[in-house]
Amino acid sequence: MKIEVRNITKRFGTFTALDNVSMEVPSGTLVALLGPSGSGKTTLLRIIAGLEQADAGNVLLDEVDCTQRALRERGVGFVFQHYALFRHMNVFNNVAFGLKARPRGTRPEKVEIHERVFRLLRLVQLDQFHDRYPSQLSGGQRQRVALARALAIEPRVLLLDEPFGSLDAQVRKELRRWLRRLHDELHITSVFVTHDQEEAMEVADNVAVMDAGHIEQTGTPEAVYHHPSNAFVHKFIGDVNLFRGRMVNGSLRLDQKEAESGRPNEVFVRPHSFRLTQAPDGPDCFQATVEHINPARPLVKVELLSEWGGAVQVDIPHQTYQELQLERGMTIYVTPTQFKVF
Ligand code: ADP
Ligand code: MG
Repeated sequence: MKIEVRNITKRFGTFTALDNVSMEVPSGTLVALLGPSGSGKTTLLRIIAGLEQADAGNVLLDEVDCTQRALRERGVGFVFQHYALFRHMNVFNNVAFGLKARPRGTRPEKVEIHERVFRLLRLVQLDQFHDRYPSQLSGGQRQRVALARALAIEPRVLLLDEPFGSLDAQVRKELRRWLRRLHDELHITSVFVTHDQEEAMEVADNVAVMDAGHIEQTGTPEAVYHHPSNAFVHKFIGDVNLFRGRMVNGSLRLDQKEAESGRPNEVFVRPHSFRLTQAPDGPDCFQATVEHINPARPLVKVELLSEWGGAVQVDIPHQTYQELQLERGMTIYVTPTQFKVF
């Protein structure tokens, strides 16, 4: 089921939460809406679901305009961060709820409901827990039940609003992988809202980066990471150092004098895109002091203080770290090997 959002505008009073937003989610793919808090992610998701009416624009599901259709006619399943399970119902009944609540004509037979619920519980690996109550489950297990419940009605579209937001880091990572697998198995079309860029990059086929009611860029995780189309996307996706500097005769000047003279540009450099040397190394290099070293990671994280007093984050391989015999307080020369100027 392909989802198309066309020129959606949504205002709350005089505040514009979505400003002429368009987006396409190809059938069977998972798109992450990624953006800071307040950028309009939830509002867009609610409009796709039919929980909220847009002031202008259309939502199409498989080329059919659903803008005027109510939630229950759209065939969407959703999971929210705080979409509490029914506390007085056990796991089985929580998942079966949407099926049992159907009008008699379309309600499946009891045996069929039983079979379908257990198939889903096996999928989320909770079939042994079918008679437990929500209070007897961990946070991660509860969100898996919520997901099984959303899937029970066999939705054409699955909408997830920060579904792992309240869980701790380890469980989040596990559920991410697990959602990815589930998605591949079911070939459902999904929109996944998150403010966590790592989560979006891990889970999604495509990422739509949102800011202040706009989609700034849509693309594969690789494209938005390596080819951000503007400064906002670059700052939001992945760690990055921001300098003020200028290009002078084909070389990059980041020192204070250049930044203050003329009109400096914003220069973005990823932490892994520096070369560190013990001696000056060409016209692009600047001098810095080592402030802090964290070797307890796949790449050694080095915090530097530049000659003009700015903090610089650099990630280097362990081998380089040992070769340079890096220590706190040491003076080092820094050359950006890759950078982006907008
Ligand atoms: P996100 O999910 O990206 O954090 P939301 O879509 O929830 O952002 O909200 C976008 C903006 O719209 C926010 O500034 C929020 O305060 C505002 N907003 C959302 N819902 C309402 C509402 N029902 N009434 C007034 N303002 C709202
Ligand atoms: Mg939200």
